[in-house]
Amino acid sequence: MERDTQLARGELPGLDRATIHPYVDATPGPFYYQRAAHPVGVEAERVLGELEGGHSLLFPSGAGATTALVLGLLEPGATVAIADGGYWGTVGLVRGELGRWGIHVVTFDQTLTPPSADLVWLEPCANPMLSFPDLDASIAAAHRAGSRVVVDNTVLSPVLLRPLEHGADFVLHSATKILAGHHDALIGVISCAHAEDHARLAAFRAASGIVAAPDPAWLLLRGMKTLALRAERQSAGALELARRLAAHPRVATVRYPGLDDPVAARYVDAFGPLLSFDVADGEQAAAVERALTLIENATSLGGVASTLEARARWEGDRVPAGLLRLSVGLEDVEDLWSDLSHALDAA
Ligand code: PLP
Repeated sequence: MERDTQLARGELPGLDRATIHPYVDATPGPFYYQRAAHPVGVEAERVLGELEGGHSLLFPSGAGATTALVLGLLEPGATVAIADGGYWGTVGLVRGELGRWGIHVVTFDQTLTPPSADLVWLEPCANPMLSFPDLDASIAAAHRAGSRVVVDNTVLSPVLLRPLEHGADFVLHSATKILAGHHDALIGVISCAHAEDHARLAAFRAASGIVAAPDPAWLLLRGMKTLALRAERQSAGALELARRLAAHPRVATVRYPGLDDPVAARYVDAFGPLLSFDVADGEQAAAVERALTLIENATSLGGVASTLEARARWEGDRVPAGLLRLSVGLEDVEDLWSDLSHALDAA
């Protein structure tokens, strides 16, 4: 039988880096200038939009996507309610840099009903505290209060969770993480439930120039060919390591929704690559970091290589001093456990 699928042929769009495409019959086409659109980006947006069930737009990073969402869709004086225990850079950016333009931030416990705000920001498997909101209830309550809702789905990806199906207005990803998946592309995505928001954000993006280049967009498409396999395998590894860490005498607390979170279990079958756990203090955390030989002592998450770091170096007393964040990659789980348990025993 002849097989002729795009995947079998390894077909990705050509890596077209052209910033201009000639007009046809004196008329600019869709790719007349790269700040407006480029072929690889449009293809990545098509694939992502199908997966999410919405209208997707690429940005040059997750933080760039956050900036575009807030500046493109909110007015000065607006309030953003951001989940506690989620990505520290989101609160820092929206409260700090964007706060200068009249945006207010309140934070809240995302396992409870969100407070009143123009935009509610949820983060399932929050990085690094791993809390998980009751999406249906939180989104419905936010909508009743007149808020719009964005779900940062960086950790899980649309193969594990599709927040637009639960009523979210927007999904945001740092596609730098599990979507691209190989620690070699910085890129972000926003998927919109409503076509008019997509049009507004696309116009903001073209005017502001917060645009993803073709190279990382191509790497994102390449990574997405294996996304389903990676998400499944990395989740299985994370669950196994979370169970073993929970039984280790040097470990006080393990945070992984796959262990014991009945709300998360209603929304997902697999819980993603990210977990965090506590050792006694900052000194012991640094000793674990130094003793690792396989797991990279590095930041970021979701890639094929496992990474671990003490988050207090960035987040200060927002997290326990001994909190170690681990993102599980594709290495053999026994090799990962051997590295982790030796590092813990040596610390
Ligand atoms: N959202 C989450 C959950 C993240 O972990 C990160 C980065 O670590 C971001 C957003 C920001 O993404 P980027 O680093 O691609 O700008």
